[in-house]
Amino acid sequence: MSLSLCRNVPLAPLTTFAVGGRARWFVSVSSPEQLVEAVKTARVKKLAYRVFAGGSNVVFGDRTFHGLMIQFRPKVKPCHWQGLTLTCQANLPLASLIKTAVSHGLAGLENLSGIPGTVGGAIVGNAGAYGQGIADCLTRVEIFDGRKTRWLDKKQCSFVYRESIFKRRDWLVLRAEFRLTKGDKKVLAKKSREIIKIRSEKYNPRLRSPGSFFKNVLVKDVSRATLAKLDQTKIRDGKIPAGYLLEAVGAKGMRQGGIRVADFHGNLLINDNHGTYRDVITLAAKLKKLVQAKFGIQLDEEVRYLGV
Ligand SMILES: Cc1cc2nc3c(=O)[nH]c(=O)nc-3n(C[C@H](O)[C@H](O)[C@H](O)COP(=O)(O)OP(=O)(O)OC[C@H]3O[C@@H](n4cnc5c(N)ncnc54)[C@H](O)[C@@H]3O)c2cc1C
Repeated sequence: MSLSLCRNVPLAPLTTFAVGGRARWFVSVSSPEQLVEAVKTARVKKLAYRVFAGGSNVVFGDRTFHGLMIQFRPKVKPCHWQGLTLTCQANLPLASLIKTAVSHGLAGLENLSGIPGTVGGAIVGNAGAYGQGIADCLTRVEIFDGRKTRWLDKKQCSFVYRESIFKRRDWLVLRAEFRLTKGDKKVLAKKSREIIKIRSEKYNPRLRSPGSFFKNVLVKDVSRATLAKLDQTKIRDGKIPAGYLLEAVGAKGMRQGGIRVADFHGNLLINDNHGTYRDVITLAAKLKKLVQAKFGIQLDEEVRYLGV
């Protein structure tokens, strides 16, 4: 199999935040086999490489990335369904996986409705919403570890809040297997529609953003003294919303170049005027400093900086 690489490709249009420069080499692949081939090609050509998929949680650097940027292009392809088990390619849009689950009356993913991006991207970032996480009903993941293709069971993926082993290792997520529970098709479809409606009011699809910019803060990571300074009514499910901390330091509406904090949500950065990676990291650093000074809490990015 030989893949044709493109030169000098702009990356910003491939993301929801629309930030970033170009890739000197670029390839878009749509199957796990091609993804592995792309990595092998990078190795043969002695090029550094990075992988992304739906581009809904990444910020690319302004300068040209001199290696090979690989997109595991989102592709709708039927899942393999057997009883309570669904298996799919990692570049399946998460929305398609949920649609398949709901149409078979399988419960466990419906609260993730409306999260953009692919199944693989969701696994890497351990995506979640409305009390459900992608890892809840995941059983195993097929990966390429740089040498061989193998299956990891869920335990080996080291999932914790918005984290997985895939954020620390250069492994490719190729396929995923989920074991769901029996549910009522109509109830699940209604739930899914309701969540999409709530989300569409919160995230206007015309806004260029990567979703929540910072991770919420786990209560267990914060000292008692710090905790005592916070409005306790804001703490939910053992987490301090980053949006609450940011709003308390006056983040709403703050701007750096073409990037601004939404005036309706302290944890939403919007690119409204040719924002750059430089603008993003400058604004992010300012916000972190303000939260650190007021609360003594370190915010960490949920978004991933890639090719910087
Ligand atoms: C409007 C909006 C709302 C959002 N709401 C939520 C939410 O409610 N909850 C939530 O958790 N997230 C949310 N997100 C963030 C984002 O949608 C998720 O993190 C999503 O799962 C990312 O998938 P992706 O395919 O776009 O990944 P990308 O953005 O393309 O990549 C994300 C990371 O995963 C890596 N990656 C992607 N695919 C692979 C692969 N196959 N193998 C190895 N590494 C890979 C990339 O290197 C990168 O580090 C939101 C984003 C937006 C824009």
